[in-house]
Amino acid sequence: MLTGIHVLLTLKCTNECEHCFLHCGPSREATFTIGQLRALVRQIEELGTVSIVYFEGGEPFLFYPLLLEGLRIVRAAGFDAGIVTNGYWATSVEDALHWLTPIRDLGLADFSVSDDEFHRLDKNDRRAEFTRQAAQQLGIPTGTICIEPASVSPQAAEDQRGKPVVGGGVLFKGRAAEKLTAGLPVRPCEELTTCPHEDLLSPERVHVDAYGNVHLCQGLSMGNIWEKALRDLVRSYDGQKHPIAGPLLQGGPRGLVTEHGLAISGGYVDECHLCYTARKQLVPHFPQYLAPKEAYGL
Ligand code: SF4
Repeated sequence: MLTGIHVLLTLKCTNECEHCFLHCGPSREATFTIGQLRALVRQIEELGTVSIVYFEGGEPFLFYPLLLEGLRIVRAAGFDAGIVTNGYWATSVEDALHWLTPIRDLGLADFSVSDDEFHRLDKNDRRAEFTRQAAQQLGIPTGTICIEPASVSPQAAEDQRGKPVVGGGVLFKGRAAEKLTAGLPVRPCEELTTCPHEDLLSPERVHVDAYGNVHLCQGLSMGNIWEKALRDLVRSYDGQKHPIAGPLLQGGPRGLVTEHGLAISGGYVDECHLCYTARKQLVPHFPQYLAPKEAYGL
């Protein structure tokens, strides 16, 4: 049952992080209007199963008045709310308190701050720390999202002893699949037969972008809420019949390659690396399901 909606308020961001699933950055434009947010929240109410709405991006604080109004709309509709930010705006704790006080007053169930080597300007960059300190002073429930650079270590599992594995928390989809995979150990295509991270049959949370795409995984769309209401999309969704999710459910990324007869072989760092590579080849054939094109760096 769908209980969480993550609003991609904008694909614009201050950074172009190498691990970003959606290829966000300063040149991206797709941003909700207030009218679109109102329409989305009405659709979420009609669905009747959602309890929490997150605002993320891109960087949602780039459109601060929109973020505040979105939060007001979501809270007035009775939903819990969360925000994910990189804290670029927190030039000091005192300044951050001014940004966050109106948000605290509207009520926030979760505030997540991205704080890792991908997001920091340099080792002296303390903006994420200032953000967290201000949020904690205001009593906002605050967490940190920390993705470490990919690391290679021997596999601990008994049956895999001695084989290298890639750790660090990076998932190799989006920009990460293109920028961070060089030189990492790979596994043969034939082994990549499951989707390890998403429930493509019965998703509990989806992302929605300003174009209306409902993402089962970044760039893999259930459908478009500006063409068909969210309630109808969710009720009629059958993962097994979806042209991309179906093969992924049946045989993972390898199944997707086989089903669509793609000329892909060799080794891939993980399931997501192969899945993203295959999906990018399929974008011209399934533009309504592999959207937006920005998620593929296009
Ligand atoms: S295997 Fe594909 S669908 Fe599953 S999490 Fe990775 S990129 Fe997403």
